Amino acid sequence: MIGGQLHQPSVEGLTAVWASLPDMGDRSGALYVAQCDLGRGVFVKRVIRRGEIILVFGGALIDFAETKRRGPRECMAIQVGPGQYIDTQPPGVFANHSCAPNAGIRNDRDLIALRDIRVGEEIRYDYSTTMDEGSFTMGCRCGVPGCRQVVGDFSELPAGIQEYYLSQGLVMNFIVERLRSARAACAPWTGKRGTLLTCTGTEQK
Ligand SMILES: [Zn+2]
Repeated sequence: MIGGQLHQPSVEGLTAVWASLPDMGDRSGALYVAQCDLGRGVFVKRVIRRGEIILVFGGALIDFAETKRRGPRECMAIQVGPGQYIDTQPPGVFANHSCAPNAGIRNDRDLIALRDIRVGEEIRYDYSTTMDEGSFTMGCRCGVPGCRQVVGDFSELPAGIQEYYLSQGLVMNFIVERLRSARAACAPWTGKRGTLLTCTGTEQK
C-alpha cells in the first residue's frame, strides 16, 4: 500500500468513482462499504469462514511513476512487484490496515479470512505484507493492543511476525523471493529484526 496516511484520504473524492464501478472484487458476495474510525472500511454482511476468499484485488497494473502521476489515488495502489502496483478498485480499495488483522493476501491477489469473521465485522489486513518500497512508512491508528504505531516495509516487521506471515503464505511473492535471496546470501540468518533484507554478510541493524 502506498500513500501518505493509514486510511485512504481520497475516499471522499472517490464517491463518483465508487458509484460507477461494479463490485468485481467481492468474491464472497458478502461485503459492504461503510464508515469506520479510519474513514471508510469493508464490512461483512454474513459470517465469513476461516480460509474463505473474501475478495480478489483487481485493477490495472501500473508502475511507481504512474502511482505518482495519478496523484491522490496513489494511496490505493498495492505493490505486487519491484516497481509494480495494482491500482486497486472497490471494494478492496477500502480495506484498511490492522496490526492484528482478520484477513491476509494470498497469491498476490486473494484476500482470505484468517479466522471466522462475524456479521458486521470490518475486514482488515496488514499492509506491511505488501510493502517493500525502501523508505515509505505511515503512522498507524488501528487501535489494537500491541499496535506497531508505524506501518512500514515487511523487512521492518519483528522477525516473529515475519515468520508468521511467511508460514501462512500471506506475503507478496516478490517479497518472498527477495527474502530467499537475502537469506541464501546471508547464512546463517540471524533472525533479528530488520536484518532480512539488509544483510550483506554483516548485520546492519
Ligand atoms: Zn496498528
